[in-house]
Amino acid sequence: MSAQKKILIIGGGFTGLTAALRLSADKNFSVTLVESSDHLGGLAAGFPLGGTSLEKTYHHLFLTDTSILDLVKELGLSERLIWCDSSVGIYREGKVHPFKTPLDLLQFSPCNFLGRLRTGFAALYLKHQKNWRGFAGVTAQDWMTRACGASAMASIWTPLLKGKFDRHFDKVSMAWFWARIHIRANSRSGGGGEKLGYFHGGFNVITTALEKEIRQRGVTIQTGALVEKISTDHTAVINGATVAFDYCLFTGPSPAFAKLLPAQVSLNDYAAKLRSIEYLGATCLIFTSAQSLGDFYWVNVNEADAPFLVFIQHTNLVGKETYGGKHVYYIGAYLSPEGKVFNLPDDELAKLWFSYLKKMFPAFTADQISERHVFRFRAAQHIVDTAYAAKIPDFKTPLPGVFLSNFSQIFPEDRGTNFAVREGARIAALIQAEAHA
Ligand SMILES: Cc1cc2nc3c(=O)[nH]c(=O)nc-3n(C[C@H](O)[C@H](O)[C@H](O)COP(=O)(O)OP(=O)(O)OC[C@H]3O[C@@H](n4cnc5c(N)ncnc54)[C@H](O)[C@@H]3O)c2cc1C
Repeated sequence: MSAQKKILIIGGGFTGLTAALRLSADKNFSVTLVESSDHLGGLAAGFPLGGTSLEKTYHHLFLTDTSILDLVKELGLSERLIWCDSSVGIYREGKVHPFKTPLDLLQFSPCNFLGRLRTGFAALYLKHQKNWRGFAGVTAQDWMTRACGASAMASIWTPLLKGKFDRHFDKVSMAWFWARIHIRANSRSGGGGEKLGYFHGGFNVITTALEKEIRQRGVTIQTGALVEKISTDHTAVINGATVAFDYCLFTGPSPAFAKLLPAQVSLNDYAAKLRSIEYLGATCLIFTSAQSLGDFYWVNVNEADAPFLVFIQHTNLVGKETYGGKHVYYIGAYLSPEGKVFNLPDDELAKLWFSYLKKMFPAFTADQISERHVFRFRAAQHIVDTAYAAKIPDFKTPLPGVFLSNFSQIFPEDRGTNFAVREGARIAALIQAEAHA
């Protein structure tokens, strides 16, 4: 047998782990996966809570997430998967309004009646419209304003766009918005209710099973291993040491990849493309409490003065028994990683966000909180503006043997673990094809 080709995978999130799973099935490869943080899982990583594992950022699956559902089956984890009834609300004008069914929309009093009807028709149109390309060059803000009117924009859509994209909200492509509505509407089960998928043991059960499987297949996994440079001579610098590879796959954020590449004429346009993609950070504050704050799983906070986007009572999806009888909450926001709120110390952030929570739920008391955690990710959501389709970087870079697969290449769908699994497998097949060509 000829010598094995050395594959270096950078990033231990779901894309990197899936690529490692697929490439390690090929005996012609010896695979090493490196991850800069001290654990695997990337944006879907968990931490220990209540005797189990909880994601640092809120996670669930949709029925349409077929790539990850197939992987779950393949890993023998189907029994860990649970499908739960979701309940969604919008906080506006001092209360949480249910916002899940067509009837909820019809009764959504912060929007005028015509706006509710127009929103219903727009949602129906987007659900059945299969071709998104016509939406790519128009902003969601403009298209939805024309379709739904000012009252629906003010009470429903503009706050959601602002919450997700901050100051970039009015640049976001309608194609991205179409995908959100289209996928979500089509993920409803036959009875009309929305089911969301979660795991006994959290998403960490997938990370752990993937880690176990790829280690068994001989993959070397190094955490705490930061890749600082990739060179033209098929080497990378990892924690100061030079390592040789035949093929290299990077799965982290696009601008971070640009920083690793050597300055070289053929690479300059590619690197400029990578740098043109902007990201927002995400901050999640998680707390556990004996207190219940209502019946909703997910509440979008649609007031202009709200300091966060979403309030989630995770145990209204999964049940508090899982966490030793305590309710588990997330408060989340997408923020500029250079901005003031992203960089607030934990205590100050908690003070700011809890004071707004008190406004939303006057009965809320911090006295009953038993645990509090704050997690920040600097590159959590890329800005999908109307020029985005032209910014998407190629999987194959101008550097021979070096590949890129990350969620900035997923468009018009939103990023998600399902797409990370799909793309991890796709890039593995591409590398394999090139290696065997
Ligand atoms: C707030 C929030 C909520 C979400 N909710 C959901 C949800 O409900 N359902 C869902 O399916 N998905 C959800 N997602 C999206 C999902 O988490 C991601 O799409 C998915 O985890 C991306 O996986 P990835 O491997 O592509 O990237 P990442 O998870 O970002 O992994 C990339 C890894 O590369 C590492 N890395 C980067 N640079 C280097 C370097 N130079 N050297 C070494 N390592 C490096 C990073 O540390 C990271 O671990 C959510 C994301 C966020 C932020």
